[in-house]
Amino acid sequence: MRYISTRGQAPALSFEDVVLTGMASDGGLYVPESFPSLSADDLADMAGLSYAEIAFRVMKPFVGGEIDDDTFRGLVRDAYATFSHDAVVPLNQLDANHFLLELFHGPTLAFKDVALQLLGRILDHFLSKRGERAVIMGATSGDTGSAAIEGCRHCDNLDIFILHPHNRVSEVQRRQMTTVLADNVFNIAIEGNFDDAQAMVKASFADQSFLNGTRLVAVNSINWARIMAQVVYYVASAVAVGAPHREVSFCVPSANFGNVFAGYVAWRMGLPVKQFIIATNANDILHRTLADNDFSKRELLATLAPSMDIVVSSNFERLLFEAYERDGQAVNELLSRFQQEPAVLADAPLERLRDKFASHSVDDATILEVIREAHHRTQEILDPHTATGYRAAERERVDAATPMITLATAHPAKFAEAVVKAGFPGVPLPPHMDDLLEREERYSVLPAELDAVQSFVASHRRS
Ligand SMILES: *Cc1c(COP(=O)(O)O)cnc(C)c1O
Repeated sequence: MRYISTRGQAPALSFEDVVLTGMASDGGLYVPESFPSLSADDLADMAGLSYAEIAFRVMKPFVGGEIDDDTFRGLVRDAYATFSHDAVVPLNQLDANHFLLELFHGPTLAFKDVALQLLGRILDHFLSKRGERAVIMGATSGDTGSAAIEGCRHCDNLDIFILHPHNRVSEVQRRQMTTVLADNVFNIAIEGNFDDAQAMVKASFADQSFLNGTRLVAVNSINWARIMAQVVYYVASAVAVGAPHREVSFCVPSANFGNVFAGYVAWRMGLPVKQFIIATNANDILHRTLADNDFSKRELLATLAPSMDIVVSSNFERLLFEAYERDGQAVNELLSRFQQEPAVLADAPLERLRDKFASHSVDDATILEVIREAHHRTQEILDPHTATGYRAAERERVDAATPMITLATAHPAKFAEAVVKAGFPGVPLPPHMDDLLEREERYSVLPAELDAVQSFVASHRRS
């Protein structure tokens, strides 16, 4: 399998290179040259298989033989053995035809574990095969950092440095990162805000000379392997409710669009999907684009669903590439215009999107209302991200006879603030985390200066 850029200019790459590379050299994102297909028989054969076995079968064509089958099966099995539920991502039936797909049983209680537990292992495998080591750098406003750290803590060939703004992340979020005491994990608290941290990471990727030739790897949501790992749970959950014999719809709480794009890939591979519903919080660029053809940036709002607080949805570019029938030049022009000023999509691509995708934006007041309403009806306490999905699914579904699967992207204990605001006493952390507030922490406080951060990284990496 080869991978090509959404801007049409960068060279095609193998799976191994695409995983190690991140963004394409022309500023685009890598996508598979063609979508592998899952036949009705392939899907029917998956009924009753373990999540890890389904994962192996769905991802194998994307890996394209670059990892031998036994090794890849092992990586997949190990990645999903870290989940606390036997079903890995269990379906929870809310009513006759509405299901929650619980993606939050991994080490950090949010869906990013599904991809990052596997990505760390794939990176480590390729690095060890090459006899190389690599450094991972990332900035976090709270949430992704911990999933990346948990995904890399056991990787011999990776050192991970995560920057967070000092005293500006919640205690639970900080402790999920700083209590991982592995030798290859470095938490840096920056005396500045998230943008300062992000800017230093970007500058480090732009000029990597401070690492004297060691590779710097990004594990952010544009890494193709993260999308690939997320395709699996669309397939597994659809099969569980009756695919290929029955169509399914999905509702996805969305921000950078990696998650719902993975669903789109599953559909292109042959999964019978009737409808995708994109749920956003008040940061609604995806909803405005689909509903009003208003593809423009707005100021960032801090909402009760903070992991969905974004200005731009980086992975939306991958869907635009498909909507523009893989015309990299058209995508390049559209996105260059969008960087400068409000943009609009051409009619035909917009219609293609509206054929399969609906959208709905949910503000903070409604999130609280939904948490109460869903509890009243189903006894479930939803986290605020999942709450946006619950509402969007109810409002936008085209067909009550088609099973609706709403993706539950985080455990409610992780976002207790919203749950308490909605009038509940809070939700306990699951047993494997209940001593989080007593565990030993380790982190370094550094000034918001590029030199200070880079010399810390250069001197603490293990190679
Ligand atoms: C990251 C995240 C999202 C958004 O997912 P995207 O792939 O960026 O669209 C939604 N909910 C939670 C809890 C998240 O952590």
